[in-house]
Amino acid sequence: MTIGVLAVQGDVREHLRVLDRLGATGRPVLRPEHLHGLAGIVLPGGESTAMWRIMARDGLAEPLGQALREGLPAFGTCAGMVLLAREITNWPERFFGVIDIAVERNATGRQVDSFATVVSADGLGEVPAVFIRAPLVRRVGSGVEVLARLGDQPVMVRQGSLLASSFHPELTGDVRVHEYFLALCR
Ligand code: GLN
Repeated sequence: MTIGVLAVQGDVREHLRVLDRLGATGRPVLRPEHLHGLAGIVLPGGESTAMWRIMARDGLAEPLGQALREGLPAFGTCAGMVLLAREITNWPERFFGVIDIAVERNATGRQVDSFATVVSADGLGEVPAVFIRAPLVRRVGSGVEVLARLGDQPVMVRQGSLLASSFHPELTGDVRVHEYFLALCR
């Protein structure tokens, strides 16, 4: 099974490493032709606005958006969640807009406010999670399932085969969230 990792910016290598550990073939996605034959795609953390501008410049935003709308499974972490969200409460534009959630960008504060913690996830139990200038989910649509919370706050959601987390699971050494995503891709 080949899983793409959007490779315009952000922590691409870390995701590829986790996919490799799980026996999937990871493929960096930089150009439209890299989308062919993917079973799913990871949209890593980074800076959503910069990632979007690079994708638009390189002609990737449109074909990737179309693939997502046609049902390509995707997992967005942090900035990747922002890219997938239908609405961004504190930003004038939206990006792919395919998951029916509203997110607030940078809601956990600045880089120096980053923290590592444990969240409790449905079916997975306690999962280590790293939050870096993370988006928080401020509204969840009716077709969206909340899979993990930090206190009362939703931090991982699923809509069909689209998965998004506020946090970075690829920085923790725990591969269960990616394993869950791979099950959605099968
Ligand atoms: N603050 C970034 C954004 O809004 C996300 C940060 C991250 O991915 N660690 O795009």
